[in-house]
Amino acid sequence: MNTRSLRFQLLTWYAGLLLGVFVIIGVATYLALARSLTGALEESQMRRARQVAHLLADVAKAPHAFLQERLAQEIETSFAPGQNNRFIRVTAEGGATVYSSPSRGEAAIDPAVVGDPHWPVRAEERRTIPLPQGRSMVLAGHKFQASDGKVYLVEAGAPLDSVQSDSRKWLMFLAAMLPIVGSIALGGGYFLVKRALTPVDRISASAERISSHNLGERLPVAQTGDELERLSIALNLMIHRLDDSFQHSRRFVADASHELRTPLTILRGELETFVSEPELPPDWRERLNTALEEVVRLSHIVEGLFSISRLDAGEAAAERAKFDLAQLAASTADQMSLLAEDKNLRVICNATRGVWVEGDRARLKQVIVNLLDNAIKYTPGGGTVTLGVSARDNKAILEVTDTGIGIPAEALPRLFERFFRVDKARSREQGGAGLGLSIVKSICTAHQGTVEACSTPGAGSTFRVTLPLEVAPADAGKENHAKTYELQHS
Ligand code: ADP
Repeated sequence: MNTRSLRFQLLTWYAGLLLGVFVIIGVATYLALARSLTGALEESQMRRARQVAHLLADVAKAPHAFLQERLAQEIETSFAPGQNNRFIRVTAEGGATVYSSPSRGEAAIDPAVVGDPHWPVRAEERRTIPLPQGRSMVLAGHKFQASDGKVYLVEAGAPLDSVQSDSRKWLMFLAAMLPIVGSIALGGGYFLVKRALTPVDRISASAERISSHNLGERLPVAQTGDELERLSIALNLMIHRLDDSFQHSRRFVADASHELRTPLTILRGELETFVSEPELPPDWRERLNTALEEVVRLSHIVEGLFSISRLDAGEAAAERAKFDLAQLAASTADQMSLLAEDKNLRVICNATRGVWVEGDRARLKQVIVNLLDNAIKYTPGGGTVTLGVSARDNKAILEVTDTGIGIPAEALPRLFERFFRVDKARSREQGGAGLGLSIVKSICTAHQGTVEACSTPGAGSTFRVTLPLEVAPADAGKENHAKTYELQHS
């Protein structure tokens, strides 16, 4: 998992915030619930204290000797605090206890635990008092003046057990909900982040497809009216500017190479005329021959540049037609066999007819010419160059294999780059400028094909071109099938 990714950070922030809010709200409701339940219990105890004060007002009219007895009777009858886990105490001003709920009993609260009231007391007061075993109780005190002028404090209390157990239940419910809320936060966050980043994915997928060959394409503009829309518009403007400057430099190369072709042809013609002059002094002939070689090399470079600029302009597959690649390979090999003959090379052409492809015949011929030319150039005399065309897995495969000097492994990945030469000096001697294979690659790519090379230095190289296979037309003629050309010049 990539913890630095925007997706991960948004997800953790979202889930973290949601969980944090849930915990804060949970704790706040827990505190509010505990407070409100405690307040309600305090209020009910204060009501009870007032009710006891009313009873006291009634019995206070009786002589003092019976006051305590009658009051106890009335309180036991009305509230039975000993049985109900309640605490009631009436204290006269000065500290004398007039009544106190029983200290023993199944559900009694011991007054010793509650402690004595501290006179003077306020008219009404509420307190929380700790009980043994971690329990606590609320105690409401009500000050009351009887008709005889005596002041009493009536206290009523009840344990907070039910409040504590209700609050604890709520807390347990919150704890049980935490993993559920966590999962919802993660799942929802993942869905939201994925949804929010979908336009970004779409933009980057389109951006990955755009290269110098299709700078006319544009990125999708997310109509969101936010940073994403601004970003896609800004990127599109940048691609537009890049497209302009690419077009400009392509036009420049095309115009420059086109302009150079004519003067170079004239120069070459003139030099050839001079060189063929019979009365030319030998040292002059040698110098002019060198100049002629350089002009021929320059013409090749200019031709290569001109081809590349036209390929870049989308002319690599301008005139598409269906044709037999095997037949084209055989005729091209036939034409080039003279070159091989000069170098004392054997050319074998294994091309089974009926390997149909669709594309620009002249351009694909250039592919075969360039590959054969290289194979002949870089194979020493006595070697063999084999050209094969076959159909396999719905693909047309053209292979040029030689028994030449080979290519070092470290050079293979850069072989199809423009102006790349394995050995500059060696390539220069052969008149190469490093453009032949990049032209091959451009043409193959424009035909939805591929070209790859494998080589063993000192043993030879193989270049394999793969193109989409077409179905042979109905009038292709059966007699042409499975015929193998064998050219052998030695
Ligand atoms: P060049 O015109 O210089 O031959 P290419 O683009 O055709 O340019 O080839 C690039 C380089 O690849 C050449 O300089 C050469 O060193 C190497 N190369 C191409 N084909 C072969 C081959 N069949 N055998 C050995 N080396 C080759």
